[in-house]
Amino acid sequence: MMGNWSALVKGWVNLFLKPNCPLCDRPGKPLLCPGCDRQLQRQKFSVKQRLLQETPPVLIWGRYGGVMKRAIAVMKYQNCPELARPLGHSLAETWLQSPLAKAQGLTVVPIPLHPAKQKKRGFNQAELLAKSFCELTGYPLEPRGLERVRDTEALNQLSPAQRQQTLANAMQVGARLRRSKPKQGVILLDDIYTTGATCQEAIQTLSKEGISVYGIAAIATTQPLD
Ligand SMILES: [Zn+2]
Repeated sequence: MMGNWSALVKGWVNLFLKPNCPLCDRPGKPLLCPGCDRQLQRQKFSVKQRLLQETPPVLIWGRYGGVMKRAIAVMKYQNCPELARPLGHSLAETWLQSPLAKAQGLTVVPIPLHPAKQKKRGFNQAELLAKSFCELTGYPLEPRGLERVRDTEALNQLSPAQRQQTLANAMQVGARLRRSKPKQGVILLDDIYTTGATCQEAIQTLSKEGISVYGIAAIATTQPLD
């Protein structure tokens, strides 16, 4: 009863008060305020920068710096999962403008979080970004396409060799994806692309089940691209 009442009050209050921008606390429209949105756009890569011609190709929306760094931190650590929606849509827009968009029959698989971590955070940001990405691109989403079976906490404090070791066999292919394999492969989706080690592990895990990765999409990278 109490729960219903407070939900009712919250709903009523939200009718009159627009939630403020989660990055600066000024009135947002509809989520980020125009100032923060403008600053976020400054982190966006040019058409040439955003597509890494690797195998598989990697599409990245922008730089992991400035307001982008803050947006990702607020989304993950200050319980603001709704930020995934505009970020995922922006990533989808750049995907649709890229040559990668020509492919058909792809399924989107988010990079999984370890269950303990997901339970603590309440959501997997990569999954929410993927959901929003799929809304715009129309690709089917397989949220449990990959599952994390080993905790790979504090990866960025490890050397590349140690990372590889820790990541080996950290993931498995989810039952549903194993049963119905996407014909043309998978798009891996993550929030931040650093060394690519996590994606490499995902690629290996999927390939053991005969599933190929067509491309990788991420919101931001720490790599200096030019
Ligand atoms: Zn703002």
